[in-house]
Amino acid sequence: MNFEAHSCPNGHVTYPRHTVCPKCGEEQTEIVDLTDEVGTVVTWTTSTATPPGVREPNHLAIVEFNLGETNVRALGQTTDPVETGDQVTPVFCKELRDPGAGIREKESQDWDGYRFSPV
Ligand SMILES: [Zn+2]
Repeated sequence: MNFEAHSCPNGHVTYPRHTVCPKCGEEQTEIVDLTDEVGTVVTWTTSTATPPGVREPNHLAIVEFNLGETNVRALGQTTDPVETGDQVTPVFCKELRDPGAGIREKESQDWDGYRFSPV
């Protein structure tokens, strides 16, 4: 599993994937692997009232990845509290939420994912 953004033929990158590019309407056909990239925290928050199975407190950040001619922003959890301007990289996390916390159809969910960790 990789931490992936998607791109249309015109080089517009989004995270997560859109069926068609929100900028030009072309189909998003390419994968942009951000797994080993370092991004910058644009803004962050900490949620203390979380849904069942989501850790509390839950640290979230919007991270911007600079890809040369373009950039892409991604919202995700962080492993630790972060500050605006911090450098972070995606790290694989086996369970982003607790599968035992009242989820009726566990098979319907993706449990794995990535959190952002300070570098
Ligand atoms: Zn596009």
